[in-house]
Amino acid sequence: MEFIKFKDVDKTYKNGVNAVYDMNLSIKKGDFVFIIGASGSGKSTMIKMLYREERPSNGEIILGGINVAKVKNSKVYKLRRKIGIVFQDFKLLPKLTVYENVAFALEIYGLPTHEVRKKVLKALDLVGLKSKTKSYPSQLSGGEQQRVAIARAIVNSPKLLICDEPTGNLDPDTSWEVMQVIKKINDLGTTIVMATHDREMVDRMKKRVIYLEDGRLVKDYEKGTYVNESN
Ligand code: ADP
Repeated sequence: MEFIKFKDVDKTYKNGVNAVYDMNLSIKKGDFVFIIGASGSGKSTMIKMLYREERPSNGEIILGGINVAKVKNSKVYKLRRKIGIVFQDFKLLPKLTVYENVAFALEIYGLPTHEVRKKVLKALDLVGLKSKTKSYPSQLSGGEQQRVAIARAIVNSPKLLICDEPTGNLDPDTSWEVMQVIKKINDLGTTIVMATHDREMVDRMKKRVIYLEDGRLVKDYEKGTYVNESN
């Protein structure tokens, strides 16, 4: 079933830069998709348009039946509830514990405390950090911090998990652990869209790979490797 669709999407920033050009793309529910390409090729722009941080200049982006570009500013928060986002730099709140960081994403929706507790512990269990609920981010390794960020991203059970260079600050072994967590989330049914520079990871994962060059989608491999880009 089609879950995400880019139809004739262009993005020109106000300064005249064409960041994405004539993009057509379809992603099925439950897919795991890597977006790769050199720095400046449009990966972040593509991802930002998916969660409506940026709007396309032309074309349509459909996410779960919703035309994302048409979502009003006042309704973006509703869209974002359906999407989990993980960034390279974790973006955890340093003064909150692991538990509080994850709960923060839920409590603003006014859930009862026992419901919050159940969901937070479930998310932390999934990323293997149930024993660290009382720790502060500064007391955790980079990989653990990223796993907390992943728990926070999935605590609302989103249909889509967007990852922008999630292993960019991590060493290869830690990156692999983090990727296994994301793979587990995918195995449980969440669609994953991940921008990355991590060649080794892409090669090992054998998932769909979309390759961007100067804002254009130039290659799309079903079970790709990074090496394919030079073929
Ligand atoms: P990537 O994530 O692949 O590095 P980006 O999507 O960040 O690529 O950038 C694509 C192009 O758009 C680059 O030329 C970049 O300089 C430009 N760009 C990105 N964000 C902005 C912005 N907010 N305003 C103007 N130009 C931008």
